[in-house]
Amino acid sequence: YRMGRLSMSEMIIETAEKFRTQTTHPIVFIDDASDVIVEGDRERLAQVLMNLIGNAIKFSPQGGNVTISLRNDSKNLHVSIQDEGIGIPAEDIPKLFSKFQRIDNSSRRKIGGTGLGLAICQEIILKHDGAIWIESQEGQGTAIHFELPLMSETVEYATQEGAEGNPPVMIVEDDM
Ligand code: ATP
Ligand code: MG
Repeated sequence: YRMGRLSMSEMIIETAEKFRTQTTHPIVFIDDASDVIVEGDRERLAQVLMNLIGNAIKFSPQGGNVTISLRNDSKNLHVSIQDEGIGIPAEDIPKLFSKFQRIDNSSRRKIGGTGLGLAICQEIILKHDGAIWIESQEGQGTAIHFELPLMSETVEYATQEGAEGNPPVMIVEDDM
């Protein structure tokens, strides 16, 4: 993992832009976050967004909005990707983070995939000390949520634990 400082709102806009030309589903971005900076691997987190937005479109064959929301508390950034698609039966939700798990029923038979996307998403999010979970109503739609620690919090921890490195820069007001 190549960790760096990332703006999640920029990454969402970039990823949504890639889909905009490929789909008629409106992609709505609701940015309610006051802090969007996480420490992460840009390529891998982009892969998470690509799979989750891709799934939201793919499993909404009848159309509907794909809504991406961003909010935060003092510790974590919360991203959710919500669709108005076919949904997931409650009993299948717990299986879907395992590799090659797909739901095989008549409404899905025509929709392709290998069943790796969510397993990879979970692996990547866990490597970032985050969490990912699914909320869904069959026939109504699905929301996939993930949470990542905000970078400001990471820095605070580092200072508290007396991590090595330079002291924080002091900004001194000069009123001359
Ligand atoms: P891949 O991502 O490897 O191309 P996939 O999309 O089928 O294949 P996952 O992304 O892992 O695999 O998703 C696993 C299964 O979970 C899907 O096959 C589908 O049945 C269900 N699923 C995932 N996202 C949604 C969604 N937004 N709405 C409804 N079902 C979903
Ligand atoms: Mg997928």
